[in-house]
Order: sequence, then structure tokens, then C-alpha cells
Amino acid sequence: MRFESGMISLIVPAFNEEENLPVLVHRLMAVMQQYKSYEILIIDDGSSDQTRHVLRQLSKAYPVVRFLSFSRNFGHQMALRAGYDNARGEAVICLDADLQHPPELIPALIEKWRQGYEVVYTVRQVDKKLSWFKRTTSAYFYKLLRNVSGLEIEDGAADFRLLDRKVVDTLKQFKENDLFLRGAISWVGFRQCRILYEPAARYAGRSKYSFRKMLKLAAMGITSFSTKPLYLSVLLGFGMSLFALLFGAEATYEYFFTNATVSGWTTLVVLSVLIGGVQFIMIGIIGVYLGKTFVEVKSRPAYIVSDTSEIEESETKWQV
Ligand code: UDP
Ligand code: MG
Repeated sequence: MRFESGMISLIVPAFNEEENLPVLVHRLMAVMQQYKSYEILIIDDGSSDQTRHVLRQLSKAYPVVRFLSFSRNFGHQMALRAGYDNARGEAVICLDADLQHPPELIPALIEKWRQGYEVVYTVRQVDKKLSWFKRTTSAYFYKLLRNVSGLEIEDGAADFRLLDRKVVDTLKQFKENDLFLRGAISWVGFRQCRILYEPAARYAGRSKYSFRKMLKLAAMGITSFSTKPLYLSVLLGFGMSLFALLFGAEATYEYFFTNATVSGWTTLVVLSVLIGGVQFIMIGIIGVYLGKTFVEVKSRPAYIVSDTSEIEESETKWQV
């Protein structure tokens, strides 16, 4: 048993979720009333709808609700990071704003934490509510990521998890700009355990993860945790050189010892185009890593906060 009275932070990234937030806050408060102390920290990821306005009202009405607004859309992962950076709890739970991560599962996560686990992550059960496309792309992504990075991340691992204060403080030390949290959390170790959950349907609105954002996340996940793609060119280079040597030996033999003229215009064209293509892909891969290094070297802030419930509070105090 630990931290019987420790504060629990719930962090919720929200991008254009005006319709979901009031319902979410009420459901969370209903679940959390059994705990002595908790806070709900919502990160508005540069929403263009009324999210910020809704948040201001919610935080005025309920002291447990705090918010941060980004100056523009920085992405889900950055919103989670801002949540970890600003949470005050002994245990920090993050969940989506669209109610796909059932708030009713929170007591189960907290129970595991009280048993001594420092990371309690959730894995979605295969179910029909998620589109076929999302399920298959996610399965392939995890497979590729496991192979390339050697990290143990399960299929369907979600960003719905509880982290102990120790783990949150460890994550805060990561200075890299492009941080793939699921990978980082698997990488840091600690006592981890998992819970299965069944995702609900999105309560309102549309998914904010476009295909482009999903691809970006996948590329970031792989390049953050592995340099193996860079070695691909070495392997391919050796393979092609070997092939060229054998081919050259055969052509020389034919030229000197047989009457056959060495023909092969088609072969020549196909080979040069193929080699050209492979070279461009390899330069591209090097480019991706170089670009990443460039971004990290600049070390700009990972996100920019333009408004918080705290500023709001102090302003009111000052006026009084
Ligand atoms: N989200 C965000 N910034 C983004 C995209 C999404 O903060 O750029 C939030 C979104 O509001 C939601 C969570 O991340 O709370 C998961 O997004 P979504 O439900 O759209 O993804 P899906 O469930 O379709 O994978
Ligand atoms: Mg969702």
C-alpha cells in the first residue's frame, strides 16, 4: 500500500473537442469522487473551435479542472508531454478527450499502482468498433517498430496509462524534441503491468488523427528509437557489389572464351534505374536522420503555452 492520500492527476489532450469536454469532465468527476485529492489537467492543443472557452468555464466552475492552451497545434504527443511537465500528482493518468478510453477503468489502474506497479499501461482488445484500416495499420506499425527498435511494445498499446511520479520525473529529463512516448515508457523500465480494455466509440466529433499524422507518428517512433534503417544501405551496398562482381566475371568469361556477344541493353537500363532508385531511398533515409539531428540541435521549445487556468486565477486575485 502506498500514498493512500497521494494526489492523482488526470491529463487529457484535447484538439477541437468542445462537445466532448463537459461530458468528459462530469464522467471523470463521478469516478474520482471516491479519491481524496485529484486534478484534471486538460491540454488544449491549439484548438480552433470553442475548446478554450469551454475550458475556461469548466475551470471556473470546478476547482479540480486546470488547463493549458498551446499557441498552435503541436500534436498529441506534445500535449501529453505538457501534461506530464505540469501535473502535480503522485500518479499521473492520461486519457483521450473523446471518451474512447473509459473513465470507469481508472480505479483499476489506481488499484494496480497501489499494489506497487510504477507503470500501468492499457492494451486495447481487438474489437469491431475500430475500423479495419486502423486495426491493420496499427498491427503492422507495432510489428515493424518491435523488429527495428527491439522495444517490447504490444499491439494496440494505447496512450491511456498511469505513471508513478518517479517515471514522470524520469520522462521530464528527456530533452529530445521529438519524443515518442510509448517507446520512451517502454525504454525506461520500472515495474510495469498491463490492463486490457475495450475502447468505446468516439463520443462526438471526428478523429483528429489524420492518415498523415499517423504516418508522421510511425516515422517518428522508428527514427527515435533505432538507427537500423541507416545500416540498410551498407547491407544493400554489399549485396549489389557482390552481384556486380559475379555478373562481371560471367561477362568477361563470355567475352574471351565463347562466341556469344554480350548483349543486354534492357538489363543495363533496368539495373541503372534500380540502383538509382535504391540510392535515392538511402539518401532519403540519411536525410531523415540528418533532419532530426538538425531539429534537435536547434533545441527550440517543444511546445509553447499561450494561456493557462493559473494565469486566469492570478489575474482575478490581482484585480481584487
Ligand atoms: N489530439 C491532440 N492533438 C492532435 C490530435 C489529437 O491533442 O493534433 C487529441 C484528441 O483531442 C484526443 C486524442 O488526442 O483527445 C486522441 O485523438 P483522436 O481521438 O482523434 O485519435 P484516435 O482515437 O482516432 O486515434
Ligand atoms: Mg479517439
